[in-house]
Amino acid sequence: MSAIVFYNTRTRTKQDFAPLQPGRVGIYTCGPTVYGPQHIGNLRSQLFADLLKRFLLSEGFAVEHVINITDVGHLVSDADEGEDKMELAAKRAGQSAAEIADKYTQMWREDRARVNCLEPERNPRASEHIAEQIALGRVLEEKGYLYRIDDGLYFDVSKFDHYSELARLDLEGQRDVQRIDAVEGKRHPADFAIWKFAAPEVRRLQEWDSPWGRGFPGWHLECSAMSSRYLGERFDIHTGGIDLASVHHTNEVAQSECAYDVRPWVSFWMHNEFLDFGGEKMSKSKGNVTALSDLVEQGRDPLAFRYFFLQAHYRQQQTFNPEAMEAASRGYRRLVALVAELRAVPDSADRDAQAPHRERFRAALADDLNAPKAMAVVWDVARSDSLSPADRRDLLLAFDEVLGLDLAHAVPAEEISESDPRIDAMLAERQAARERKDFAGADRIRDELAAEGISIIDTPEGPRWSRE
Ligand code: AMP
Ligand code: ZN
Repeated sequence: MSAIVFYNTRTRTKQDFAPLQPGRVGIYTCGPTVYGPQHIGNLRSQLFADLLKRFLLSEGFAVEHVINITDVGHLVSDADEGEDKMELAAKRAGQSAAEIADKYTQMWREDRARVNCLEPERNPRASEHIAEQIALGRVLEEKGYLYRIDDGLYFDVSKFDHYSELARLDLEGQRDVQRIDAVEGKRHPADFAIWKFAAPEVRRLQEWDSPWGRGFPGWHLECSAMSSRYLGERFDIHTGGIDLASVHHTNEVAQSECAYDVRPWVSFWMHNEFLDFGGEKMSKSKGNVTALSDLVEQGRDPLAFRYFFLQAHYRQQQTFNPEAMEAASRGYRRLVALVAELRAVPDSADRDAQAPHRERFRAALADDLNAPKAMAVVWDVARSDSLSPADRRDLLLAFDEVLGLDLAHAVPAEEISESDPRIDAMLAERQAARERKDFAGADRIRDELAAEGISIIDTPEGPRWSRE
């Protein structure tokens, strides 16, 4: 069998994967900042980590997956300025930070469940690990990496020789473009907060006592503190979106390698590329954010979004648009319908006939998680004339352990039938309501159909319907 190779951001190469302890893999994934709903771009970072985990499980590893919940300290700007995202959201909603965090953590968990992500072994919250973060800050202070200014306690990046390694940063260049609104007293623009002091005149919702004074931890500290608590001072794989590499992950490395005297702290850094809207970033400020719940409202099956995700390699930028989503939905429905037919065929496995297909599927994923290539094997098997129905079924269900499309249970949606004039008439009525901007009327018809188990899918060619 071929070796497993993963692309490592740290070394900029594909490398053979071997865990620190034989048979066991520790993965840490940067989770959501729970100040608002997550969008499907954020969800891509979760689906990527889930594919990684499922693949490693299928290879026989025991996997310890830690995903954190950021519920304090993530400021509006990555450069330690601006308000804390959680504080801002809580004040706007007139709720406590804990209420906001609970609400969006719950939503995030539901989204993950709907796209069939396996539960992480640990899901720690930053606000519940303040003591660990302070302890880590103390170690860094004792070793002389920190300095104190009016605003807080800062990490001096000039004291860590490998600071620019992970993201190949140009630190001198950064100094030249120092922003005028940067925190006063910082020695270098890249220096980052370990602990921020609560300003005496501002009442924060979340603040704690520390040896340095009352305040709250810098955002990056939580991931170093919680990963070491649950995975040890060195571990195998750290994941996150590519946007995190240059600041957040770079600072995690600095804190951890300096505090624990380890190098490399993390063996493999794996980053997913962005999901965008064709060159345009998904961003709350632009108002072009799509959440999984929006897709569901449009009648999409969340697992069709997982199918969509699998069509691109995780290191490729992926473009989301209604046409691509529609194509993925169709592909997913066809696959579900096909497997549903095969589920009933009696067992008659021919392991030899199956073997080359299993090997091709595995080889695709062992080569830096090439999901599109693995999906091509899925369709080759699904359409194969040479494999028996029982072998096709066995293979597809085995592949699905890694793909997570729930093929063992998914119920096919009946294709649109021309022969139901009553439903077609309701659809036409809804369309007319929408055209005259009577959205309440249109929604009422959608709800009536939903009560009968019929979902409407709006496509570029007009609305279509299917029975659940
Ligand atoms: P946040 O809740 O902003 O802390 O982000 C959670 C995760 O989503 C991080 O790993 C981000 O890198 C990732 N992420 C944010 N936007 C996107 C996007 N458009 N596509 C893929 N991943 C993203
Ligand atoms: Zn993190």
